[in-house]
Amino acid sequence: MSFARYIARGELARALDDMARGRVTYAPRREGDAVVFRPRAEGEEPLLARATVPPKGVIFPQSERLFAFIREKDPNDPGHTTVRLDSTVDIEPALIFGARPCDARGFHIFDRVYLNGPHRDPYYAARREATVVVTLACTKAGSTCFCHWTGCGPADTTGSDILLTPVGVGNDAGFVAVAVTERGGAVLERANLPEADTARADAAQAVHAATHAALEAQSPAPDLSATPARLLERFPDTGFWRDMSDKCLSCGACTYLCPTCYCFNITDENDGGDGMRGRRLRSWDNCMSSLFTREASGHNPRMGKALRLRNRVGHKFSYYPQLHEGVVSCNGCGRCITGCPVSVDIREMVVRATEANEETPNA
Ligand code: SF4
Ligand code: SF4
Repeated sequence: MSFARYIARGELARALDDMARGRVTYAPRREGDAVVFRPRAEGEEPLLARATVPPKGVIFPQSERLFAFIREKDPNDPGHTTVRLDSTVDIEPALIFGARPCDARGFHIFDRVYLNGPHRDPYYAARREATVVVTLACTKAGSTCFCHWTGCGPADTTGSDILLTPVGVGNDAGFVAVAVTERGGAVLERANLPEADTARADAAQAVHAATHAALEAQSPAPDLSATPARLLERFPDTGFWRDMSDKCLSCGACTYLCPTCYCFNITDENDGGDGMRGRRLRSWDNCMSSLFTREASGHNPRMGKALRLRNRVGHKFSYYPQLHEGVVSCNGCGRCITGCPVSVDIREMVVRATEANEETPNA
C-alpha cells in the first residue's frame, strides 16, 4: 500500500478537515515557550513546528482510569462484601497531525511491548487502533537530533499511517502525502486530492536525502552494533556511571519527554473516606525516580542515581534491542537532551560506553 497525493499549502487545513472527519485531531500548538499537541478545531491552520513534547500521550495517556470499583456490603451478612468493577473505556477515534518521524516510531517501540508482547494491553491496543498518525518529514534537523544513529531518520515511516513531505517554495509550496498503511490510504483518499506527479515525488525524495545528509554532516552516525554487548560489559563499572550521572538531578524530565518510555505506576483513588467506591489509575512513572524500584520491604536495588541512569541507557541501547531483534528503544529525537535542566547527553554516554576503553576507577 503506497500511493502519493499532493496538498497545496493553502489547501492543508481543508484537506486535514476531510481526513479527520469523525475524529478528534491533535496538532501542535504553541503554549508559552512550548509546542504541545492539542485538539484542533475544524478549519484551524495547523502549526508545522516540531513539538516540545511528543504525542505519545494521545495513545498512552499520562494518567488514565483503568476501571471504577464499587464495594457493596451484603445487608444480611455485613462481614461479606462484593466488589463490582466498571471497566468501560470511552475511546474516541483520533488523528495525530504533525508528529515527526522519531515521534511516530515511538509508537512502534510501544507496539512491540503492549501489542505484540506476551501480554496485549487492551487500553493501548484500543487507542492505537482508533488513532491515525500523520507524520511530517523533517526538512531541518535540530542540534540535538540524532535519529540517524538509531535506525530512525528524518523521513522514516515506521509507526506512521501517512507521511507528508514539504516541497516547493512560495506559491508552489505544498506537501507530498504518501499513504504508508491501508488505514492511512483510506483516510488520505477522503481528502480528494490530486496525485503527486513525478516532479513532486522526486522533490520529496530530494528533501529526504538533503535532510539526512545535513544530519550526517552535523554529527556522523557512529557504529553502534557493538553497543548492546558493550553496555552489558559496562554494567558493573559503577565509576563510569557515577561519572556520567554526576550532574543529574533525578527530575525524570528526560523520560517524560521521551517518545519511547512506557513505564507506569498503578494507584487506587477513593471517592470519600469509606473506601467503598473509587477508581484504579495508571499513570506514567519513570526509572530516574528514586522511588521507582523501591520494594515493599523498603529495600531499593537502585538507590543511587548512577544506577538509575545506567538502567535508562541500558534499557534503551542494550536490554530492549536484545529482546527485540536489535531494535533500539531510542529514536534519537534528542528531547531528553534539550529538556534536561543540566544537559545530560545520552549520545555521550552511549559513545563512551561503546568505546573499548579502560575501566573507570571507582570513585
Ligand atoms: S530526530 Fe530531528 S530530524 Fe530526526 S526525525 Fe526527529 S525531529 Fe526529525
Ligand atoms: S532530565 Fe537530566 S537531570 Fe533530569 S533525570 Fe533526566 S538526566 Fe537527570
